[in-house]
Amino acid sequence: MPMKILVPVKRVLDYNVRPRVKPDGSGVDLANVKMSMNPFDEIAVEEAIRLKEKGVADEIVAVSIGPAKAQETLRTALAMGADRAILVEIDQDVEPLGVAKILKAIADEEQPALIVMGKQAIDDDANQTGQMLAALLDRPQGTFASAVTVEDDQVSVTREVDGGLETVRLSLPAIVTTDLRLNEPRYASLPNIMKAKKKPLETKSPADYAVDVVPRLKTLSVTEPPVRQAGVKVGSVDELVAKLKDLGVTA
Ligand code: AMP
Repeated sequence: MPMKILVPVKRVLDYNVRPRVKPDGSGVDLANVKMSMNPFDEIAVEEAIRLKEKGVADEIVAVSIGPAKAQETLRTALAMGADRAILVEIDQDVEPLGVAKILKAIADEEQPALIVMGKQAIDDDANQTGQMLAALLDRPQGTFASAVTVEDDQVSVTREVDGGLETVRLSLPAIVTTDLRLNEPRYASLPNIMKAKKKPLETKSPADYAVDVVPRLKTLSVTEPPVRQAGVKVGSVDELVAKLKDLGVTA
């Protein structure tokens, strides 16, 4: 029987934009910079669409927790091929545990057989939400997926682990987090972008799910990485060796 897939997508600083730290060191400056869907989440949307194209899934629900502008991220997911979307609107940043609690409440309501999400968001690099959600829902998880195959009521997930690949088989319902090599996400075509404007997008608030999103963590300071020293060109191998010796580098 075809199943429902839930795909959480986060609006983040576009991966091509160089982050600038706010002058007071309280965080990254997001004013007037390009924001996009977290790249790992694009991979998750693509994988869900491929499962739908194979007839394994019949409905894809995209969900985002964030500001009103996260609607754009959801419209992108809809233009790629998701069927409907839920925006849980909140202006402050929500930590992975808060996101996982909201996603749990949505999963309880929607009962998806599969939740496909990014292994990490490239803004906080937390790599926590999928694992926390699996724990809260008490469902099996296949993280860092580079291949996903659904057969009957099971999903096989090939995982990228140190020094090779590991394949785990999970009973559905389950959670899969995507790694970079799982697939190459499609671009939304213009007709699909137009069609996406008419697809259903529901707006909710964290209170609708009775989830407390008060931060548990305090950011003490955010700093730029140290500026790299300029290099020098040497004229010969002998000069290079002499310089390395000066620096105390030995073979
Ligand atoms: P993280 O644990 O923050 O690195 O995020 C891992 C994954 O959780 C992301 O790739 C998204 O799929 C999902 N996620 C995290 N934050 C949000 C959010 N605010 N809205 C929707 N999905 C999210």
